[in-house]
Amino acid sequence: MSGRPIDDVLVVGGGIIGLAIAREAARAGVRVRLLEKGTIGREASSAAAGLLGPQLGADRPDPLLPLCLASRDLYAVFARQVADESGIDPALLDRGTLVVAARAGEAEALDRQCAFQRSIGLSAERVRGGELRRLEPSLREDCVEGLYLPRDRSVDNVLLVQGLERAAELSGARLERGVRVDRLLVENGRVVGVQAGSQRVSAGAVVIAAGAWSGEIAGDGLPPVPSVPVRGQIACLGPAAVPGRPLYSGDFYLVPRRDGRVLAGSTMERAGFDRRVTAPAIAALTAAAVALVPALRDAPFHSAWAGLRPATGDDLPAIGRGAAPGLLYACGHLRQGILLAPLTALVILRLLRGEDPGFDLTAFDPGRFQNRVTGAGLSPAPSVGARARRENPS
Ligand SMILES: Cc1cc2nc3c(=O)[nH]c(=O)nc-3n(C[C@H](O)[C@H](O)[C@H](O)COP(=O)(O)OP(=O)(O)OC[C@H]3O[C@@H](n4cnc5c(N)ncnc54)[C@H](O)[C@@H]3O)c2cc1C
Repeated sequence: MSGRPIDDVLVVGGGIIGLAIAREAARAGVRVRLLEKGTIGREASSAAAGLLGPQLGADRPDPLLPLCLASRDLYAVFARQVADESGIDPALLDRGTLVVAARAGEAEALDRQCAFQRSIGLSAERVRGGELRRLEPSLREDCVEGLYLPRDRSVDNVLLVQGLERAAELSGARLERGVRVDRLLVENGRVVGVQAGSQRVSAGAVVIAAGAWSGEIAGDGLPPVPSVPVRGQIACLGPAAVPGRPLYSGDFYLVPRRDGRVLAGSTMERAGFDRRVTAPAIAALTAAAVALVPALRDAPFHSAWAGLRPATGDDLPAIGRGAAPGLLYACGHLRQGILLAPLTALVILRLLRGEDPGFDLTAFDPGRFQNRVTGAGLSPAPSVGARARRENPS
C-alpha cells in the first residue's frame, strides 16, 4: 500500500464512514466489498443531528480543524453528487449556524471565537440585539449576543446515509449485510483479509470503519485501535415552523429538518454499548429547547433516540495506515463523523492509491495508541475534552 496502489479493498462497517469510502473507492475503479454486521447505516450515522459546523466553539488552532473545514467545503459537491447518483436528496441546509450566548460570561467566549476565526480567514460575525432578533426572531427575548457562522450548515444524515448506500452500490461496491467481521487475517506480516464467521474473505487492503466497535477487530500481532462508545440522545419535536437555522448555545443545539421536525441534542454519556433512551435526558433536552425557542412549547413531541459515538480516547479520530501493510483505519470520529465523511473517504482513497493524503495525518495516526493498549486492547474511558464537548465538533 505504501507506494503500491491497491485494486481491491474490504471495508468493515456500513456507517457513513464505511459507505463514503466504499463509494469513493468504487467510483475510482477499485473493487470494493463492504461487510456490515447488522443493517447498513443504523448506528451512530443515523442517530446524529447532521451539523456540519467546524467553526462551532473553535477558538484556537487544533489539528482536526483543517480537516473539518476542508470536509465542510467538500459538502456542497458531495451532497449534490450523492443526490444525483442515488435520487435521494440529503437536504443540505445552507442558512448558516447561529451560536447564542444564553448565560452570563458566554459573550466573551463568542468574542474569542470570532477573533480567532477571523484571524485565520474564516467568516464569522458577532451579532447583537436587534440584528440577532432579525436573524432569528424565534429566540428567547433576553438572548442578545450571538455569533453568526454563515458557512457552517447542516444535512439530513439519515437521508444522506440512505443515498450513500444506494450510490455506493450503483458505483459497483458490493455491500453485504448481516456479516460480522471477527478478526484480521495476517500472512507474512501483511493483512490479507478478514475472518467473518466461517468465511475467509481476502482483500488487497482492509479498512476498519466499524465505529464504536472498531476496537473489537484485531489480528495476530496486531492490537486494535482503542474504541469506546459515547452515548448521545436526541429529542425530536415538531412539526414546528422555527427555528430557521441550526442554533447552538452552550453545549445544547437545535437543528431544524426540512420536513419541519426539530432535533434537540445532545447528551455525552459513557454508558457502554447501551443505547437506550432515558426519561431524564429527554426531559432535559426538551426543556432546553423550549427555553431557547419559546414557541417550541406548542410543538408536539415527535420521537427520541440515542446512538453510540465512536471515540478513541483522545478526542481525535484514527485515520491512516495501520501497523501492517494492507491495513487502514477510519474510525473514532466521535462528534464529527458526519462532517468528516467526505474528507475521510478522499484521504483513504489517496492512501489506497499510494498517494500523498494531502493533509497532515500525524495527529490521527492509528499507531499512537500502541503503548497505551492493554491486554484486552481497550484504552481507558475517553476524555471528553473541549472539542468533544461541542457537537460536531455531535
Ligand atoms: C446523538 C448524536 C449526534 C451526533 N451529531 C453529529 C453532528 O451533528 N455532526 C457530526 O458530524 N457528527 C455527529 N455525530 C457523530 C457521528 O454520528 C459519528 O461520528 C459517525 O456517525 C460515525 O460514523 P461511523 O461510520 O464511524 O460509525 P457508525 O455509524 O456507528 O457505523 C459503524 C458500523 O460498523 C458496523 N460494525 C461494527 N462492528 C462490525 C464488525 N465487526 N463487522 C461488520 N460491521 C461492523 C456497525 O454495525 C455500524 O453499522 C453524532 C452522534 C450522535 C450519537
